[in-house]
Amino acid sequence: MSKPNILHCSFCGRSKDEVGILIAGQESHICEECVVHAQEIVEQELGEQAQTKKTKHQNKKLVVKKPKEIKTFLDQYIIGQTDAKKILAVAVYNHYKRIVQKPKANDDDVEIEKSNIIMVGETGTGKTLLAKTIAKMLNVPFAIVDATVFTEAGYVGEDVESMLTRLLQNCDYNVEAAEQGIVFIDEIDKIARRQDNPSITRDVSGEGVQQGLLKMLEGTEVLVPPQGGRKHPDQKMIKVNTSNILFICGGAFDGINQIIARRINTNAIGFNVNKELQDYQRQNLLQFVNAQDIKAFGIIPELLGRLPIITYLNPLDAETLRSILTEPKNSLVKQFNKLFDLENIKLNIENEVLDFMVAKALEYKLGARGLRSIFETILNEAMFELPGSEEKEFNLTLEYAKSMFEKSKMSMLKVA
Ligand code: ADP
Repeated sequence: MSKPNILHCSFCGRSKDEVGILIAGQESHICEECVVHAQEIVEQELGEQAQTKKTKHQNKKLVVKKPKEIKTFLDQYIIGQTDAKKILAVAVYNHYKRIVQKPKANDDDVEIEKSNIIMVGETGTGKTLLAKTIAKMLNVPFAIVDATVFTEAGYVGEDVESMLTRLLQNCDYNVEAAEQGIVFIDEIDKIARRQDNPSITRDVSGEGVQQGLLKMLEGTEVLVPPQGGRKHPDQKMIKVNTSNILFICGGAFDGINQIIARRINTNAIGFNVNKELQDYQRQNLLQFVNAQDIKAFGIIPELLGRLPIITYLNPLDAETLRSILTEPKNSLVKQFNKLFDLENIKLNIENEVLDFMVAKALEYKLGARGLRSIFETILNEAMFELPGSEEKEFNLTLEYAKSMFEKSKMSMLKVA
């Protein structure tokens, strides 16, 4: 029994001495642990309410575009990567056709199995962009997750189920919508079965995580913790069926070209081959990637069986980088023009400046992602000085670009 003159938490009953913080209400008190617990309950309830609300929110009807239309849509945002676009377009078309036509399919007992996808390509070549653009086109929920945060049950880290939390959160816990969504699992190559995996916080081989993914990728009912993280016993779960969720995995698979080369009996790296030739060979070899190579890299056959569609992305060469600057619907040049426009300043960029930026992106091995930083670096001073000035026009010349780049910290970042 608590003594009346000692303050205690009105929820758990612990006295002031037993708790860290005791917050006073009108006629009661609450300790910090009960606050946290109460917040969890509130969040869970809100999640569930959103879930029940979804019946009121009519689900948007899924409109499946033809593969050619899908590719045309992708072309607006992504430069090159024709093979990947075509393979993805067909896979996505078949996947969603299968969902839309499900009731009819029972007639002949032929059930089309789902085809998750694996994309192999260097970082920054557009894997995420492709997956994201497809989800945007279809208007389905989309989540990007990093395979490296997942751990086998019992280790430090997130359970694989939490990737569905991300998907649910992205569509306000509309389970029906989430069940037709797309999950992009990045860095799938990092959970390959390998001896030299440096992680100390999870199973050293990564194989446990691969095992954990199997059922989910194939299609099963998963109990998802609404707030993600690790499951705990008194947490309410949301049931999600993954049969119609499309999983797209991406990874750089560093060194896979040697495996491909070994398989097709070509020597990828000779002693006297120059850099260009090596790059060219790498680019050429990746197009031959198949399940056997990915298995040799350390992805278990069971998981590969659930990722039957394999495609690759080419490394970005100067020409592609140059096009990325100007051609996509929301290209960097268009974005910066708009930023200046909003200040009523006309931005004129010399063509040589674009070539210079591409050369720097290649020289500093920054890829397409680096183009934005280079652009920002070059224009930062102007974007600082011009707003509020009388200027109506700004000419970005090669000379100016060079001087700004040289002055910047970026120019010190050169990689050997
Ligand atoms: P990855 O997932 O392969 O590491 P991303 O898709 O995240 O690479 O690409 C990084 C950024 O680079 C994108 O947001 C985009 O701005 C740009 N980018 C990369 N490849 C392309 C491409 N082929 N076409 C247009 N932009 C690209």
